[in-house]
Amino acid sequence: MKSRGLAALEASAPLKSFDFNRRELGEHDVSLDIAYSGICHSDIHQVRQEWGPAIFPMVPGHEIAGTVTAIGSSVTKFAVGDLIGVGVFIDSCRTCASCKQGLQQYCESGMTGTYNTLERDGKTVAYGGYSNIFVINQDYAVHIPANLSLAGVAPLLCAGITLYSPLKKWGAKPGMKIGVMGLGGLGHMGVKFAHAMGAEVTVFSHSAEKESDALTMGADHFVLTKDPSALKPLYKTFDLILNTVSADLDINIYLDMLKLDGTLVVIGLPGVPYGVNAGSLLNGRRRIAGSMIGGIPEMQEMLDFCGKHSIVSDVEIISADYVNTAYERTVASDVKYRFVIDATTI
Ligand code: NAP
Ligand code: ZN
Ligand code: ZN
Repeated sequence: MKSRGLAALEASAPLKSFDFNRRELGEHDVSLDIAYSGICHSDIHQVRQEWGPAIFPMVPGHEIAGTVTAIGSSVTKFAVGDLIGVGVFIDSCRTCASCKQGLQQYCESGMTGTYNTLERDGKTVAYGGYSNIFVINQDYAVHIPANLSLAGVAPLLCAGITLYSPLKKWGAKPGMKIGVMGLGGLGHMGVKFAHAMGAEVTVFSHSAEKESDALTMGADHFVLTKDPSALKPLYKTFDLILNTVSADLDINIYLDMLKLDGTLVVIGLPGVPYGVNAGSLLNGRRRIAGSMIGGIPEMQEMLDFCGKHSIVSDVEIISADYVNTAYERTVASDVKYRFVIDATTI
């Protein structure tokens, strides 16, 4: 299928218009017209090869919201005209223990990413969502509730599920004190979800101007991390801290803020190792854990939760010619709070 997208032709190159082919509609596939595609910091990390060698030309994008335009002969999950979402992976082995539990993101042979990878045939390059159309196996797409703004839904397919999943895993509920490090695309979804789940939420940010937005989103407290004296009184007060920061930083001070048996969840992927003080872990039997996006059943659960609680991402809708500026602004922490590309401008 003839497609148009935005691609980096080589590492760190500015994105520009790119024509390519997607596979024809298979028996189990649906095709969609993309309405909006979110810009995740992971797109920038990969275009800039901050996680290692990547595949070019690269059409990034794994926060895809659109409308079904055609269905394959065996498709039962979707009908033409349905709202549909695609996230960070488009396939997996389907047979390993993780896949059988609906945790396709932890597939033992590796999930097939939405871009910057080869499809499971080992030869077709996967192109992502900064594009006008998409083709996906029905099992790897989700339904979007009709009561939500489609632009605000697109970032839920990565930023949303990536914060929803650890909050569920570590049991966010009333009475829990939860910290969210970094108020960017992921972090702002963490604030909205943790608040909706009834927890007391503290945002740790290095951007003073984000305070009023954080409180509007549902945070109970805002801590400016540039001021170390603001952190000291918080020593041993948190049950759970979610680190969404895209840059390298000292996590020991955050470990020290956890209560007995508290957990720091690593979500940001700066591409450099963390240095951990043994004492910060031992003292309080604290834990460091990781969490990566969420599986298909949990993505659907998250979208249904958003439909019920009227939760969407705060977005700045941009046209295709703004994407390179949007990358610079995201890296400068100047995003309120997710850039979303209007796919009709591609
Ligand atoms: P983003 O929108 O750019 O937000 C990152 C936030 O981190 C910024 O807004 C900023 O918040 C803070 N930050 C940035 N540079 C900083 C610095 N030098 N010092 C301190 N704080 C800084 O990025 P995102 O799209 O939310 O993604 C965040 C990270 O998660 C990325 O590394 C991304 O690759 C990763 N990620 C992981 C998963 C997963 O499954 N685990 C999924 C998607 C993305 P403040 O201005 O509030 O300080
Ligand atoms: Zn992402
Ligand atoms: Zn698997």
